Amino acid sequence: MAQSTDASVAAEITIRGVVQGVGFRPYVQRLAREYRLTGAVRNESGHVVIAARGQEGDIRRFIQALTGRPPSGATVDGVETKVSEDGGTPPAPDFVIADSGQSDFDRTMMTPDIAVCEDCLREMTTPGDPRYRHPFISCISCGPRFSIAGTLPWDRENTTMKEYALCALCAAQYTDEADRRCHAQTVCCNSCGPVLNYRGRDGAAEGAGALDTAISVLKAGGIVAVKGIGGYHIACRPADEAAVGKLRFLKGREAKPFAIMFPDLCGIKKLCRVDAKEAALLLSPARPIVLLDWVHRDFAGNVAGTSRYLGAFLPYAPLQHLILRETGPLVMTSANISSEPIIKDDGAIEAFFETHAGLDGVLSHGRKILRRLDDSVTAVVNNKARFIRRARGYVPLPMEVEALTGCPPLLCCGAQTKSIAAVTNGSLCYPSAELGDLDGAGSLDVYRETVADLSSLFHIAPRYTVCDLHPDYASARYARETGLPVLEVQHHHAHIASVMAEHGLNERVIGVAFDGTGYGPDGTVWGGEFLLAAPDGFARAGHLKAVRLLGGDASVNQCWKTAACYMADAEIKSQAPGEREKIVQAALGGGVNTVFSSSAGRLFDAVAAILGLCEEATYEGQGAVELENAAASCTVKAGDALPLPYTVGEEGGCIVADMAPCIKEVWAEKERDVPAGLLALRFHLTVASLIDHVCRRLRAEHGLAKVCLSGGVFQNRLLSELTAPLLEECGFEVFFNEKVPPNDGGIALGQFYAGGMRCVRGGFGKTD
Ligand code: ZN
Ligand code: FE
Repeated sequence: MAQSTDASVAAEITIRGVVQGVGFRPYVQRLAREYRLTGAVRNESGHVVIAARGQEGDIRRFIQALTGRPPSGATVDGVETKVSEDGGTPPAPDFVIADSGQSDFDRTMMTPDIAVCEDCLREMTTPGDPRYRHPFISCISCGPRFSIAGTLPWDRENTTMKEYALCALCAAQYTDEADRRCHAQTVCCNSCGPVLNYRGRDGAAEGAGALDTAISVLKAGGIVAVKGIGGYHIACRPADEAAVGKLRFLKGREAKPFAIMFPDLCGIKKLCRVDAKEAALLLSPARPIVLLDWVHRDFAGNVAGTSRYLGAFLPYAPLQHLILRETGPLVMTSANISSEPIIKDDGAIEAFFETHAGLDGVLSHGRKILRRLDDSVTAVVNNKARFIRRARGYVPLPMEVEALTGCPPLLCCGAQTKSIAAVTNGSLCYPSAELGDLDGAGSLDVYRETVADLSSLFHIAPRYTVCDLHPDYASARYARETGLPVLEVQHHHAHIASVMAEHGLNERVIGVAFDGTGYGPDGTVWGGEFLLAAPDGFARAGHLKAVRLLGGDASVNQCWKTAACYMADAEIKSQAPGEREKIVQAALGGGVNTVFSSSAGRLFDAVAAILGLCEEATYEGQGAVELENAAASCTVKAGDALPLPYTVGEEGGCIVADMAPCIKEVWAEKERDVPAGLLALRFHLTVASLIDHVCRRLRAEHGLAKVCLSGGVFQNRLLSELTAPLLEECGFEVFFNEKVPPNDGGIALGQFYAGGMRCVRGGFGKTD
């Protein structure tokens, strides 16, 4: 071996990201020995810290190797290196794995579920391997984690794998330091692991027979429930219109697009445009659903209708690989009824099977799922990954808000739809997975269980609760039931604070919160808001003009009613008012059960209905989705289209944007048979231009140049893609959510920042 002439140095290397519970330290050790380094690697407060000594060049190459090809379950987010001269102290004889630090964090470290790795897949497809076609193959860097862990620490006895005693082979690998299954808590094989079972309408099967039967039923156009990692999926072939129709009926899901699981990335690329960022997301250990531009539309028309996007994802459980290799792409949708929580228990899927004749079979196994985790949903917008739903593969990773160091532990209760609860400890926030809408009784039970589970898992006893201002949110009622002191955070302030928390902004910013609905402190419905926001407070600086809408939950989904209200507001008189218009006019005239609303979401609904794109929404936000699809299908380029008119005035020191001129123009142009797609595009341009206009006015008045945009309306990719460059061109720094969804799934993080800052600044909760 050639003698290196480099100087010998000491380096302390801190690695951040998903680096614990994924076999990172053994990997570091192997690599360090390869590069002739001495020292130690240890876990510390959620990071991995390496103290290494060796030749300078070796250390550099070691870091390159480590970050360039980390172990498969790991995601490296950041590396800090401090190099100092080797002080001449005698080097350690070897490179060792030190005991974990004793901080609270390390004792409560829990990794999200990790997709099966390439090494395991290779073994699974190698005839003669003891884990050949084993549906539960895993290793130190892959497999289920959070979904099967009862308590901490992460030991087999604390997981639902404890029921499976290790065979001689697995036991030997588990204890062999040189084996990649050393201390892999989920290790098992064909002779000792869980066994598949299938139950169909005319018989049952076990083991390989169960898998074969499920595959043949799916291939023949059947519908099969398949046990996954965070719950059951219901699957069918996407090219089979009758099967997809049956599945829609089974789930009570009329039109919302289904996501498709593909056997491999090539299959996705044949149908969708996939850039490098999107490919990286698809292949990441979390294996989220990624909304992709859908270019070649095969599949049945009822899979995703006219959607511009296809939600695509890759198999993450070995069982899914075994199935999809045979069947090709599958619709894989959570087993649940509309917005109820996903089914995870064998008993519950049995009951579902008994009562739903449309389900042809259930492919299951004995490994219990302890925690419900839906598939996460992401998209790449403005070249950045963005969440629509944060669940499997990400939960329970904490988020850190440095300004909240020393904050007393909080319970942040989230909102009502897409509810998420979070428990916090100092500067760390542990958001739950999305728990569905809290309207259903089942959802509320799951919500309570989840709060209890997170608190006990992370040893957090909240001292305050933080909740939404809305008095009727089930989550706010729950906050009060706990008996703890309650801090209230206004809904749109929480949206903006979620963006500020993610980007570490601790200052005043312009906040643009556009969503469906939120409770305003003045008792009206807010939802098209411009805020001057700091972490711990805000002022309403501007908003969309409040329009009188019909109250009642049913009206929210009836976009035609919303449209009639906006038309009444814009004083549009149709020549021959139909029955519906008369109903709405009578209701508005009587003034009974009407509400004033500045909601941006309802504005999108109204325009969608006026353009005939969505009269009645069958899922939340459908009006906006159809409007975006129509705009995207328009052949006119955004740069060649013009915004529609609107006016910006002032009322009591608050900027008020009136969209009535826009509604008038949409109506008039539509009467002139201008295509809906072009008008939809022009409407998007209008909203972007309005945001830009108001932000510039606020900058002139208040000297603020950072804009945070959040709220469910910003799930609209086209709107985000039109708005960001407009703002950036005139010198704004623009921030969107990247770690939590812009919809109400992000509220809990915002509540943490807003409520927590009040605790820290106001001295609440300090022990004396
Ligand atoms: Zn593996
Ligand atoms: Fe909201």
